[in-house]
Amino acid sequence: MIEEKSIEVLTDRIGREILQRIEAARPRDYRERLEADPLVVWSRGGPRFLSDVLRFVDVFPAIRSDAELMEYLAAYVGDPKRILVGSGRQTDDVPKAVRALIANLKARFVAGETIAEAVEQCRGLRHARFGFTLDLLGEAVTSEREAERYQHAYLDLIRAASPAVADWPERASVDRCVHGRIPRLNLSVKLSSLYSRFDPIDPRGSADGAAPRLRALLTAARAQGAAINVDMEQYALKDLTLEIFKKVLLEPEFRDWPDVSITIQTYLRENRADLAALAEWVEKRGAPINVRLVKGAYWDHEVQQAQYRNWPAPVFLTKEETDREFEAGIQFLLEHHETLRPAIASHNARSAARAMAVAELLGLPRDVVEFQTLHGLGAELRRALLEMGFRMRVYRPFGALIPGMAYLVRRVLEVTSKAGFLQQMTSSPLPVAGLLAMPSPSSKPESRNESAGLDALFRNEPVSDFSRREARDEMSRAIERIRGELGRSYPLWIGGRAESAGEELVAVNPSAKSEIIGRVACASRRDAAKVVRAAERAFPAWSRTPPRERAALLLRSAAIMRRRRFELAAWEIFEEAKSWREADADVAEAIDHLEYNAREMARLAGLRRRDVPGEDNEYLYEPRGLAVAITPWNFPLAILTGVTSAAAVAGNAVIMKPAEQSSVVAAKLMEIWNEAGAPPGVIQYLPGRGEVAGEFLVRHPRVQIVAFTGSFAVGLRIQRLAARVAPKQRDFRRVIAEMGGKNAIIVDRDADLDQAVPGVVVSAFGYQGQKCSACSRVIVHRAVYPAFLERLVEATRSLPIGPAEDPHAALGPLINDEAAGKVRKYMEFARDSGRIAFQAEATAAEGFYVGPMILADVAPDSPLATEEVFGPLLCVMAAEDFDEAVRIANEPRYGLTGGLYSRNPDHIRRFKSECRAGNLYVNRPITGALVDRQPFGGIGLSGVGSKAGGPDYLLQFMQPKSFAEYTVRRGFAPPRD
Ligand code: NAD
Repeated sequence: MIEEKSIEVLTDRIGREILQRIEAARPRDYRERLEADPLVVWSRGGPRFLSDVLRFVDVFPAIRSDAELMEYLAAYVGDPKRILVGSGRQTDDVPKAVRALIANLKARFVAGETIAEAVEQCRGLRHARFGFTLDLLGEAVTSEREAERYQHAYLDLIRAASPAVADWPERASVDRCVHGRIPRLNLSVKLSSLYSRFDPIDPRGSADGAAPRLRALLTAARAQGAAINVDMEQYALKDLTLEIFKKVLLEPEFRDWPDVSITIQTYLRENRADLAALAEWVEKRGAPINVRLVKGAYWDHEVQQAQYRNWPAPVFLTKEETDREFEAGIQFLLEHHETLRPAIASHNARSAARAMAVAELLGLPRDVVEFQTLHGLGAELRRALLEMGFRMRVYRPFGALIPGMAYLVRRVLEVTSKAGFLQQMTSSPLPVAGLLAMPSPSSKPESRNESAGLDALFRNEPVSDFSRREARDEMSRAIERIRGELGRSYPLWIGGRAESAGEELVAVNPSAKSEIIGRVACASRRDAAKVVRAAERAFPAWSRTPPRERAALLLRSAAIMRRRRFELAAWEIFEEAKSWREADADVAEAIDHLEYNAREMARLAGLRRRDVPGEDNEYLYEPRGLAVAITPWNFPLAILTGVTSAAAVAGNAVIMKPAEQSSVVAAKLMEIWNEAGAPPGVIQYLPGRGEVAGEFLVRHPRVQIVAFTGSFAVGLRIQRLAARVAPKQRDFRRVIAEMGGKNAIIVDRDADLDQAVPGVVVSAFGYQGQKCSACSRVIVHRAVYPAFLERLVEATRSLPIGPAEDPHAALGPLINDEAAGKVRKYMEFARDSGRIAFQAEATAAEGFYVGPMILADVAPDSPLATEEVFGPLLCVMAAEDFDEAVRIANEPRYGLTGGLYSRNPDHIRRFKSECRAGNLYVNRPITGALVDRQPFGGIGLSGVGSKAGGPDYLLQFMQPKSFAEYTVRRGFAPPRD
């Protein structure tokens, strides 16, 4: 056990030596060079400017002409010359200078384009006594074809580079270490690129997909005497990556092979646990591995994703904490150096000094430790460490510009985020004490957000993080538990009592149609009449209940839903064939509606006063009376909960008439209302046929609100029926009707296809296209049409089809036979209406499966491009330019959602004003609207009503009243408060 104090003393001494060496080796014009470094200059322009520049750099490969380049520059950074300031590239030919600047930037961080170039550069590096590891930059892998291509590129790399490196003359300091021979060729691979469906929700499927390709790489590398390092990517993929790595390397073929390496990122809170687990595993394996210790390159991504999803950040929030963990990691590895051979990858002099100090105090020879730096960073440190007798390896990515863009931007971000550090390194003499100061200890993780009562700000309920084993286990357990509860009977719920009906609806599992989910009472007109009477009895007291008390019912229900969330999701998986993620998101959205509507009621209940001396004026809201919630099956809990909670919290008595296909989930909601203490008759459950019970309620003279969500045909009929006024009827019925869509995504000429392809796939085929918000038309700029279509088809081909309860399945069945039949008819019609670019076969024996279809070159006015199909049929159309794309997008009479993938700021602005849809999305999927963030609802023939989950929604369930009292008596007015 070495003492902390001795480590610190030695670290300081070594650190000073490193810094001295760095300073001594600097060229005389070092400062001027740094001052002229565009990255230093950009980061001085502030975070906004830097992000504008980076966004420009990101779109750069899509720019075709000088004129365009100037337009984009102007749009992103204002004065085009700003990007060149300080770079020494002041010139009148701005486009030329900008191109040169970006080419330089690329050369700085990316080591060549081809294998030959990369290997040749490595030869030079080796000559200077540095080892290397090669990383082939690739586009995001969206299909199996692309995953295979990536794997083959690596196999080619091994094949092509091995003979070349074997010919190089021996260099003992690079080729040998205490453990013996070091492989000359060293490659870094990313597992997510080896399988297109690499997704932690499905560890088994992901392993089945990625592991064989990894094995082939390992076998080839081993045969050629090369080494393989598995890179670490986003946190979500970390456990899966570790699992596959460990599993494959325990196999007999690889078990005794030491030339493999895995990466551990110390910015992750779990890094210590992962290191400990690795040490345990390697004992079992019996042969050592290498561990590359890094701080982590995805910090911005991790923090943004955590905030975006309302999850606790998996990373430390300060640089100091990460540095501190890094030092702990160094010590751990050095103490386990025989089995976990350390590769310390950092550009920080203090971290390196600390590693050297610990190694020395442990009495280890210098070549036990390998240091690593990135190509383009830390050149001086690299040299200093080499001079001090340590082994050095340089991480060298290579490849073309477009695939390299994500890497390039990450590197620039990394450098510029260390602006302070860079700044310190520019000073002369170096601020030694500051640079070598001990980093501060780690803080506690943030606590998870839960409802904090009516007066706390609304925050969206986080969806479950299925990259965590605990969440997956809970979901699996819930599915098993619910399997034991299938087939039960569900009565009507009238006036606080369970009642049976003469008839039953039988709910079956769409994934396995012989499985009965439940038997639900099917209400007759008589039952419906009874329910109306019970609601009338309950209404007066409920309408007088203080709004905050009514809101409290919603908060109690939200708490119950949280407790039962996996169970509720499991019911959706069985009854509606929702996938795990879709089911979980639907439950989270239901909780959001409860929390949001409760707060909205509290807000609206505050009296609006306009008093003047002698006159008190109030503006207040009253409930309307009896509300009927008629809802669809595709968001079985969220929509029903949203409508019912809004109507009830506003003081109305509500009758829930759920869709026939989702009545079991609706019965669960009734259980929750009851458990939360809804007074009898305030919320009732009346499952039954739309044309029978539903229509009876719509026509009923005592019903004041019909809140409908469903198809256009039924919505239209309901509006007609509801407009009639019966002889004794006292109110006009208020109809809220949210209906279908024929939603388009425009893929612009400069779209990032890495983003657009998966975004369109998820929007079009998520829940088999059975979402009102689903994308059913993609309008693609002619210039990228062939490339986009090819990637789209391949990505769709790679989607596994299977039962909803299997997290491996990307596509499940449709809701029932009738729906499947309808979609198949459209598909038959499609054969004559366009070019079938892709169609997947799906066996319909077990469930209501219909494979996805992509239809290319569809005429914009074809029924396929204007009618809602509600299934996995996607029409692809070409547009000559952006104007035409918008025209085609606006063709249908519907106007629900719309999307655009573009990096052109002017087009994004125009899309916002010209695209005719209620919910618009740019550079993201068009489904998955969140309460409060994206209040949801259509325009045109998609809807009559204000957006659900938005600030106007509740008003529809109330009527405003103005009240004025003249308070003057005999010339005397009471004083005002
Ligand atoms: P649907 O119109 O068939 O049924 C919706 C509801 O209406 C069900 O409860 C049904 O029983 C009831 N109903 C049917 N006929 C009725 C009648 N004559 N009188 C009274 N009620 C009647 O729709 P669906 O198949 O359940 O759902 C899919 C449709 O819903 C799609 O068109 C989709 O776009 C739309 N949708 C829209 C939104 C939105 O917010 N705009 C959200 C989800 C679904």
